[in-house]
Parts: sequence; structure tokens; C-alpha cells
Amino acid sequence: MEKVFKPKSDRDEAIMAELVQFTARSFGTPCPVPFGAAIVDSRSGGLLYRARNSVMRENDPSSHAELRTVRLAAKKLGKPSLAGYTLYSTCEPCPMCMANALWAGLDRVVYGATIEDANRHCNQIHIPAEEVVRRSDMSCVVEGELLRDLCYGLFTDPRMLKAFAGWSTRKTNNDTRGKHD
Ligand SMILES: [Zn+2]
Repeated sequence: MEKVFKPKSDRDEAIMAELVQFTARSFGTPCPVPFGAAIVDSRSGGLLYRARNSVMRENDPSSHAELRTVRLAAKKLGKPSLAGYTLYSTCEPCPMCMANALWAGLDRVVYGATIEDANRHCNQIHIPAEEVVRRSDMSCVVEGELLRDLCYGLFTDPRMLKAFAGWSTRKTNNDTRGKHD
């Protein structure tokens, strides 16, 4: 089922496009990543924090872009609640990150590429972000796919394709895709 996301305003697109640029800056570093996240004030659109996936850089399997950004943003705010904020992510949050977004009380999550897109390059847990919300007591609006092609371009950049080869979670079994559909 393909969903077509209609942004409520140009602001969502502008924030995501900027996030793609920010994420692409990792391609010039020793640890390129296609995953970037930004936390923005839902009303004003002001940026609170943004960060990239640092699993390889920090040797931390939980250092996904979304989880790391939530952690650092909450520390910056000095409280564990991010109610009133929206999380933008270049890729649909995995179940770990979506669960964390719910614990953080985020209003809304907006993503670009899908878990299936990411799964062409690295292993994934096949539970849609919306499903995580549905099975929780919390509420959070999940919207995607916003600028999906632009976001997926982060995965297919030649520097990223080269980097994926060194990932412990790199895709090794091409039969996995669709197994869980
Ligand atoms: Zn994640």
C-alpha cells in the first residue's frame, strides 16, 4: 500500500530538505550515514536539536539517529518530555526509535524513506512505525513518506554504498525482503 503524503505546509518539506543536506555531510567523514533526525518546535518550527546515526562512530547499536536526537534534545531541554515537538527523520523510525519517540511524548513524527527502502541496504525489524503507535497507550501522529526519493538518495550515494559494506547490519540475505509482508 503506497501512501501519498500531502504536507500541511511547505515548512515540512523545507525542514526535511535541510535535514537531508545535514545528513549528507556525513559522506565527507569516516562514518557516512543515511540516517538523520531533527526535533523541531511543532508550533514555531524552530530547531531544537538534530543529529545523525552514530552506531559505527560510537560503537553503540542503539545510537540510531532518532533515538540519539531525542536523547540529546531532552538533555538540552532538561526534561524527559518532548511534548510540543515534532521529530523529522530521513527514514521511517524503527520499532526501537518509534517506541522511544512515544516515551518522549513527541506530537508528531515525519519521515522520508521507508523501512523497506532501508532494508535494501541493511537489516531491519519489519514493524511499521504506525503499528508501534497503534499498539501503545500513547498517541503520536506519524506521517510519511515526505521527499522519499530525496531521502532515499542518501542510501544510494556511492560513498554510502561503499560504507554499507562495512556495517555489521549490512544486508546479506536478499530473500528477507517481503518475508514479513
Ligand atoms: Zn531506529
